[in-house]
Amino acid sequence: MNDIQDAVYEVLIIGGGPGGLNAALYTSRKVLKTILISKTMGGQVADTYDIENYLGFSQIETFDLIQKFEEHVEKFGIEKIIGEEVTSIDLTGTIKKVSVSNGITYQAKTVIIATGSRPKPLNAAGEKDFVGRGVSYCSTCDAPFYREADVAVIGGGNSALEAVIDLDRVAKKIYMVSLTPLTGDKILQDKVSAMSKVEIFTEYNTEAINGEAAVNGIEITALKTGEKKLLDVEGVFIEIGLMPNSELVKGILPLNSIGEIKVDHLCRTGIEGVYACGDVTNVPFKQVVVAAGEGAKAALAAYGYLVGQAPGYFSY
Ligand SMILES: Cc1cc2nc3c(=O)[nH]c(=O)nc-3n(C[C@H](O)[C@H](O)[C@H](O)COP(=O)(O)OP(=O)(O)OC[C@H]3O[C@@H](n4cnc5c(N)ncnc54)[C@H](O)[C@@H]3O)c2cc1C
Repeated sequence: MNDIQDAVYEVLIIGGGPGGLNAALYTSRKVLKTILISKTMGGQVADTYDIENYLGFSQIETFDLIQKFEEHVEKFGIEKIIGEEVTSIDLTGTIKKVSVSNGITYQAKTVIIATGSRPKPLNAAGEKDFVGRGVSYCSTCDAPFYREADVAVIGGGNSALEAVIDLDRVAKKIYMVSLTPLTGDKILQDKVSAMSKVEIFTEYNTEAINGEAAVNGIEITALKTGEKKLLDVEGVFIEIGLMPNSELVKGILPLNSIGEIKVDHLCRTGIEGVYACGDVTNVPFKQVVVAAGEGAKAALAAYGYLVGQAPGYFSY
């Protein structure tokens, strides 16, 4: 049975990425009784080495950026629980209930969902079997393990191109395999095309990831001709996009066709007092600055609702 905390928070934020942390900064500066619950601190920012497009920092290592975020939020004093997962949520009624993996249920007048997104799986044969044994979804985290190795990057967008650029510093040979023509920014495409150790296969499907104890190759098929190729690689970096962490509210809040929470210009969802921000929403451009800005909007909208200045939901 869940242990229900007596305290009723004014705002409960789920997620400790830029969206959730900036929401916490804003609610705490409005002196709203706030609690933030997150599996991790910093969210996806921790998955990359540095950031060059956050205003005020022409280049900052993400370890330092996350520390700065945390210190800034701490300064205004919020309660936070890091390392716990929110497992269920009851948004009916004016007091919302949020249950956490430690068995405790928290209560709040408003909830801000900032659960972000995660990499999309390829769904190729063998993929699941070799996660952590040659299959990776984070080149920044895992590229250093592939020094002088032959590797493949699956995908054709910006994240795939950035993965190739990351790997160019360590790997011996890099195959880039994309289902479509490359779709990433021209500046990145030009950079990758100029790399001597990169071989690009566009309009190829990755059918299977093979191996024994660890990955030793991939099977790819040309979409136009059906021609099959076996590429000997030790590492496969899957960079085909993101999927929103919205399972918690599936069937509870309106989602779009790809599972993102639908919000209006005030980050309001279809339920009164429930807001969402950042990568988990249908707001385009998944970036740190966008998620942080949306977090601020969600916090100020929740404040407006709590003090009776604005309705806490929108209807379609
Ligand atoms: C490799 C990589 C490189 C990137 N490079 C850049 C860049 O250079 N510039 C840039 O602007 N953006 C970059 N991005 C994008 C940027 O990191 C995201 O847009 C941003 O982090 C989104 O913030 P968010 O707060 O919405 O979600 P996230 O950062 O995804 O944070 C979500 C948080 O919610 C937590 N959470 C999820 N579900 C639960 C649950 N059920 N219970 C409790 N906690 C939960 C997670 O643990 C996480 O802490 C990059 C992303 C990646 C993956």
